[in-house]
Amino acid sequence: MLPDRCDVVIVGAGNAAMCAALAAREQGATVIVLERAPEDESGGNTRFTAGAIRFAYDGLEDLRALMPDLTEEEIARTDFGRYTEDQFFDDMARVTENRTDPDLVELLVRRSKSTLMWLRSHGFRFVPIYGRQAFKVDGRFKFWGGLTVEAWGGGPGLVEAHRKAAAKDGIPIFYGARALGLLHDDDGINGVTVRHEGKTRTLACRSVVLASGGFESNPEWRTRYLGPGWDLAKVRGTRFNTGDGLRMALDAGAAPCGNWSGCHAVGWDRNAPEFGDLAVGDGFQKHSYPWGIMLNANGERFVDEGADFRNYTYAKYGAVILRQPGQFAWQIFDRKVTHLLRDEYRIRQVTKVTANTLEELAGKLDDVNAGKAIETIRSYNAAIRTEIPFDPNVKDGRGTVGLPVPKSNWANTIDTPPFEAYAVSCGITFTFGGLRITTDAQVLDTDGQPMRGLYAAGELVGGLFYFNYPGGTGLMSGSVFGRIAGTSAGQAAKRA
Ligand SMILES: Cc1cc2nc3c(=O)[nH]c(=O)nc-3n(C[C@H](O)[C@H](O)[C@H](O)COP(=O)(O)OP(=O)(O)OC[C@H]3O[C@@H](n4cnc5c(N)ncnc54)[C@H](O)[C@@H]3O)c2cc1C
Repeated sequence: MLPDRCDVVIVGAGNAAMCAALAAREQGATVIVLERAPEDESGGNTRFTAGAIRFAYDGLEDLRALMPDLTEEEIARTDFGRYTEDQFFDDMARVTENRTDPDLVELLVRRSKSTLMWLRSHGFRFVPIYGRQAFKVDGRFKFWGGLTVEAWGGGPGLVEAHRKAAAKDGIPIFYGARALGLLHDDDGINGVTVRHEGKTRTLACRSVVLASGGFESNPEWRTRYLGPGWDLAKVRGTRFNTGDGLRMALDAGAAPCGNWSGCHAVGWDRNAPEFGDLAVGDGFQKHSYPWGIMLNANGERFVDEGADFRNYTYAKYGAVILRQPGQFAWQIFDRKVTHLLRDEYRIRQVTKVTANTLEELAGKLDDVNAGKAIETIRSYNAAIRTEIPFDPNVKDGRGTVGLPVPKSNWANTIDTPPFEAYAVSCGITFTFGGLRITTDAQVLDTDGQPMRGLYAAGELVGGLFYFNYPGGTGLMSGSVFGRIAGTSAGQAAKRA
């Protein structure tokens, strides 16, 4: 039974929301979590992730502190390297073209390690991402791209760890409880309206933390803010992030902030369903394009597949695919690289063709100009600087010369059968536009004044991401700002 009042209401039950709930409870506040989804679909986009989390670490000792289960054997066979705060800052600045908010990024980076240690203190476990972020060279694994750990059990494991931590701390989660609006007067926010079990009612509180995701699952808002064509994107994750929290806050006078016309979107199986499928998780993504090429319906390449490590390009290439005729592309590989393809290429629900000649392959690429496809592959093969050795662990500089669309790294000839091709479309992950917050995660109104009792975290915070995004930062941002929002909301509620 949903109570009439509590100190802090948390809207959402993804990673940001649940971090906020734990932190508010630590302040001694009574906390209620409202989750729009039914229990079997709960956990938002967080549940669809692989659980990869980007954080700054100075070397092995930091990793040992976070993952005391690391064995001596794992340590001996792995070069974990370091990912310093400076590198994290540089990555955020570079991929956002220097637009990321300096105050927010400061918190994100400097609190990344301590926030993971805080989660660990609540019983969360982390493991190295051997499968996806490290290749074996001369018998040793080497991590690359600043992304080294994932939550134990991936996204589903992370959501389960949150559920357990909340239960341990006496935080109730109400499923099928959709927040509809914020109650407020001249003294600030004092409650929410919520629809639960077919009834609309009010829930009084002293603080609200909005952590209900972006508007990626709302085709009308996507078209309105991201632009024409975005109604045609597939949604990678939950169907419940339709912008409710953003609308509620804007209606109450909150200031919009950040890249409202931007989003995170990737190459995603062309025949994937409209929304994410929890049984497949992130398996519809196809992220090994740096080892091959991508062709559009005209049989032409249209993007530098090897511009950077996939961590730094995958989130913006979905939009590039959406702009192609028919909103699709084929990724092409030959036998020399197929052993490098990520595990998502080996799932049952995949749109794949194989062939023993390039002519046969081109004929099997649905909706593609086959003659032009063969021509493109031949001229690509001829343009590669084959004198530079191929090395997937570093940006190897093995590029092309003289092509209208260059490939900067990892260019390998496509000449060794069997050939494999995978059809992808655009899959949207989450939207970048959000609310303006202070460094205490308090929401600001359109006059620039803090809105008493209103806090925000996760996808619906604006100002961090523009144009692009370094892989693994969504969970880190949700954790850092969820914790800050919950702490602030809990403290404010206790003061009131
Ligand atoms: C397939 C996929 C793979 C990904 N992989 C990674 C990865 O490996 N690493 C990484 O860092 N990021 C990854 N991401 C991005 C990551 O999922 C998000 O950045 C992060 O989970 C956002 O957390 P959040 O808590 O803000 O939102 P969510 O986890 O989406 O939670 C939002 C919650 O709000 C609820 N909600 C919505 N409206 C209402 C309402 N009106 N009332 C009540 N509740 C409401 C939803 O049901 C949901 O529980 C991935 C995303 C997808 C889709």
